[in-house]
Order: sequence, then structure tokens, then C-alpha cells
Amino acid sequence: MTIKKILSGLAVSLLILVAVVLVRTLMFSPVERPVESFESVEVDAERVSTHLSQAVQFQTISHQNPELRDDAQFQGFIDWMAQTYPEVHQQLTLTKFNDYTLLYQWQGSDPELEPILLSGHYDVVPVLPGTESDWQHPPFAGVVADDYIWGRGALDDKSAVIGLMEAVTLLIKQGHAPMRTILIAATHDEEVGSDHGASAIVDWLKAQNIRPLWSLDEGSFVLNGLIPGVSEPVASINVAEKGYLNLRLSVESEGGHSSMPKGYTAVGVLARAIDRLQSHPIPSGMAGVSGDMFDHLAPHMPFLHRMLFANKWLFAPLIDQQLSESAAGNAMMRTTIAPTMFSGSVKANILPIHATAVVNFRLHPKDTIESVVGHVQHVINDERVNIEVMRGDNASNVSNAKGVGFERIASVSQHVHGPVVVTPGLTIAATDSRRYQNVVQDSYRFNPMSIHKEDAAGFHGTNERLSIDNMVKATEFYFLLIQTAQ
Ligand SMILES: [Zn+2]
Repeated sequence: MTIKKILSGLAVSLLILVAVVLVRTLMFSPVERPVESFESVEVDAERVSTHLSQAVQFQTISHQNPELRDDAQFQGFIDWMAQTYPEVHQQLTLTKFNDYTLLYQWQGSDPELEPILLSGHYDVVPVLPGTESDWQHPPFAGVVADDYIWGRGALDDKSAVIGLMEAVTLLIKQGHAPMRTILIAATHDEEVGSDHGASAIVDWLKAQNIRPLWSLDEGSFVLNGLIPGVSEPVASINVAEKGYLNLRLSVESEGGHSSMPKGYTAVGVLARAIDRLQSHPIPSGMAGVSGDMFDHLAPHMPFLHRMLFANKWLFAPLIDQQLSESAAGNAMMRTTIAPTMFSGSVKANILPIHATAVVNFRLHPKDTIESVVGHVQHVINDERVNIEVMRGDNASNVSNAKGVGFERIASVSQHVHGPVVVTPGLTIAATDSRRYQNVVQDSYRFNPMSIHKEDAAGFHGTNERLSIDNMVKATEFYFLLIQTAQ
């Protein structure tokens, strides 16, 4: 073959490649969703915002140390619920778990239909000591000002509990009678691990042989300007949540005086292990939930991004590299590795007899505790380093992004929030849903409120707030979701 023939062969191959890439990009179109029509809902904005404001004023704080819990605040909140929502308390059956978690059961007319479970938590995280004065309005005053309800829990997650109660009240007043049983949970210990709230509900449901078809609990939101490259609002209905793993790495050595060290000290050996770990990330997973998410989002991105995601077969390494550069992108794609604690000798001039480090991992659904420990052993490859599991929870199951529950949530969101891009997503923190998945067929994680970057900062932080418009929309959302969940 002549050089000329080789070159022209290469040019033809290149042209074909470019054509394939372009055609795939042009055919990479947004996921179509049918537009459903719903009846209009009259929500009293003043009523719902006053109720959220009152709810915020109960200091239902979950502390890491359970002895610090102020039981009177929790009981106060429960009493307030009974006074504020008399229709709900007359029409629905209330079961309490460990004194403070509430499960309301609205009996459906058709016993053949599996129930659905809608959930929120009313406990809140503490306000970081010393930051109280940074709040524009005191965190537990429930101030309503500038079209917002301000305070701890306004966003996470009392607004969901209040939205559900308001929606059921409206439905009862309109004479709605569900065909499918509706279960509504308000849990009290989500912020400290759900050991006595959601888990007790799950045990009870199992004992009653009740297997809800799907559940909806807190998760992501309608995100505005929070997904790089997507200008439209994005409703991220999360179908899974990451797991959690703490590994303790330790090295023993002889010790002695630091004036005569021999080779690496225990601290040195451990530092080397940590360095190897950090320079060998756990491989990303563009299959499964992460890939599914980008398949939904990328068609709404600028041409170059669309081209990359439409041709993952060719550009996967490039996508991986790009996403890994941002902390959020990296956390979406893979199990993250964060060495957080490190200790060695007690004195500067004494060689350490042991050194320990703690590494925190957030497990992607594609990995397990075993596979991560295997990766750590393989990468460190040093028998002087002892590896021990301190605490671990695998990632949740991945719920069906084409399931009936997902479709309901998506459809109602699109009606309430206007044209939004719907995508399945991944929650990177732990929620009550990881308990519910033990008894529910598909669990979804989504709050029906529309948030911007400045609202997101209030999440477990300072100046938590929710707009009145969002409180109205959340009520409308739960109303339509329950009304059409037949
Ligand atoms: Zn929460």
C-alpha cells in the first residue's frame, strides 16, 4: 500500500468517526414526558406560611448526645399538630412510635391496592454555637418577612410535614376518599440516624404485612442554576442514596527516641498509605444511576457537553476527568475517599508506637463495603497497615426511574413548577428512605420546592428559609399527588 492510500484511508475513517459523533449528538434528545392535566388547587398562602412559622418555633433539635433532647419541645409539636389539623386527626388513624414518630393511615376503599408512603421529618439539626447572630432572623422565631418563612427546619424538613398536613386537610374538606391507602409519616430522629423513627415504622409495617408500592421522602429539590450547563430548572427525583463507611488504618512499631529513627516511622508508613489511597480514586461508574442522570441532563447542555455525553463510548475517559475535577461531579460518579483523622506519637521527640487514621467513604450504589475494603487493601499493598471497619452501611437499592411512583412525582412536579427537566438522581447523604427501602418497593427522595443557590446554603447552615410561594407549591404538589395516586 502506498502512503497516499494509507492517508486517504485514515481520512475516510476520521470522516466516518466525525459523522457518527455528530449524528449521535443530534439524535441525543431530551426524554419526552406526557403532559397531564390536573385540577386547580386553592391554597391559602397566609394559612400555610403561618403554620410553617409556628412549626419552626418548636425547638425539636436532634443532638448527637440523646440526653440533650428537649422532650417537651417534641411533645409540644405533636400537641400543636393535633390542634392545628383536627380534620386529619379525625379522619386518619394515628400510630405513634417511640413516643414521637407519627404515622397517619388514611384507609383506602380498595384493599387490593398497595398503600403509598409519604414522609417527612420534623426534627432539626442544632444551630452551630456562635453563629446565632449571623442569622438575619432568629433561628427559632419563625419570622415571616420578605416573602419567606425563616428559621431552622423551614427547608429541612418541617415544610414537607406541614405541606402534607395542609394537603390532606384540603382533600378531606373537598370530600376526597382515597382508593389506595395513604400512609403519612412524620419522624423525629432522622438527623441522628433514624434508629427509633423510620426504622420503627418499617418494623411495624413488616409485622402488619404492609408493603407500600412506593414512598416519597426528603431528597433533592427543583434546582435552579445548580446544575452546571443546564439553564432550565431541574427536578432531581433521587432514586438512591449513597452508603457510609469509616475505616480505621493503623500501624504498630517499636518506638524509641526520635534521635535515632530507623527507616519510616509508624506515622510515615501510615502517611504513605493515605497518599496511595488518595492518588488512586475508586473507579467511577457511568453505568447505572449516574449515567442515567447524565442521559437526562446532558441533552439540555451546550453542544460540546451534549456531544461528549452522546458519545460516551468514545469520550468516557474525558467525561470522567472533567467531572472528577468538581467536588459535586466527583461525588455523583464514584465512592469518595476522605481521610479525616490522623494521630501518632504523644510527644515530638518520641517515636510513635502506633499511628492511626480514619478514612470516611461515601459509597456509590455500584460499590459495596467489601469491594471498597478490597480496593483499599490492593492500593495500600502494605502488610504493616492494619485495616478495620469501624462503621459501614452499603448504599441503598436503586429504585425504578420508570416506576409508577416516579412518573406520578414527575408529572405533578411538572404541573406545579412549570416546565422543569426531570431526572433521576443520587442523594449523597443518608435519609429515612434507606430504612423505608426495606419494606417499600421503590423509594423516591424529593422535596417539591424550587430552590436557588442562596437557599441551598441554609440547608443545615445559617439563614435557613423557604419562600411562601414554595410552601404554597409544596401543598399543591402533595394535594395533587395524593389525589391522583390511584
Ligand atoms: Zn432532612
